[in-house]
Amino acid sequence: MERVLPNQGNANIEDRTGIQTTTDLNPVNQQKTESKVQLNIQPEMNTESGAVCPLCGDRGIVLNGDTAAPCSCMEKKRIENSFKYARLSRELMNCRFEKFSLEYYRNANTQQDQEDYLNAQKALRAAREFVKNVRTNPHEVGLLFTGSVGSGKTFLAASIANEILENNHKLLFLIVPDLLDELRATFSNKSENTEYDLLDIARTVPILILDDLGAHNYTEWSRNRIYSILNYRMNEQLPTVITTNLDFDEIDHYLGERTCSRLLQMCRIFRLSAPQDIRMQNYLKREGLKKDKK
Ligand SMILES: [Zn+2]
Repeated sequence: MERVLPNQGNANIEDRTGIQTTTDLNPVNQQKTESKVQLNIQPEMNTESGAVCPLCGDRGIVLNGDTAAPCSCMEKKRIENSFKYARLSRELMNCRFEKFSLEYYRNANTQQDQEDYLNAQKALRAAREFVKNVRTNPHEVGLLFTGSVGSGKTFLAASIANEILENNHKLLFLIVPDLLDELRATFSNKSENTEYDLLDIARTVPILILDDLGAHNYTEWSRNRIYSILNYRMNEQLPTVITTNLDFDEIDHYLGERTCSRLLQMCRIFRLSAPQDIRMQNYLKREGLKKDKK
């Protein structure tokens, strides 16, 4: 199943995120600060957690002509730090499009397996296009990857996140059960953020990735929180990438009709299906129980 649906919202909605971007930085100033970076790391590793900002060398300030402005990384860090679990895990930080092997989706020459391969190819192409387009279009239509456990959907979503973060764009990667836990934790005194703070960030962050919108035990409260995030993002045309192991009937069942309907408007939908769980395929390869396919 692959459906491509037009995004029907209003084209001229102003970006209300209130987040200042500093993409028009003077390249000369950027070079100046870059030369101060001490760590010998590859440029594409710079924006990973704990690494030095290539724009400001972690000073938090960039010079644009003769005026100093807060670096975009400050806002990025604020977004990341607001959620305890927003950082990508070590495993997910390694996900890249180049490592997304279509061979996992190929099996015997049956019609069905060919379909899996073509669907995976379409999903990969859409993911790359999304990354490319979102650089110039802050209202790019989002993506929804649906498929069973071990079908590669989180890998694709994490690859999108890594590419976008490397370009210093503001993005939040949230695993849905963690998000709901964090929202609940704001009710205890332990959390520094209020529920509204966290919801506001998830609603307004320029690019949001929601991983594992699955068959969890949603209460009316959690259903409403997810709806509130998605509804805001749909109205403001803010791109959202979602992974789920649910099909649309199930999304309707677990999250309700109104959320389901918004997802259709916000996202292009791609199905990923591998003949065998990719983690199992990797396990068999690693343990020498299966030969590498050519
Ligand atoms: Zn910076």
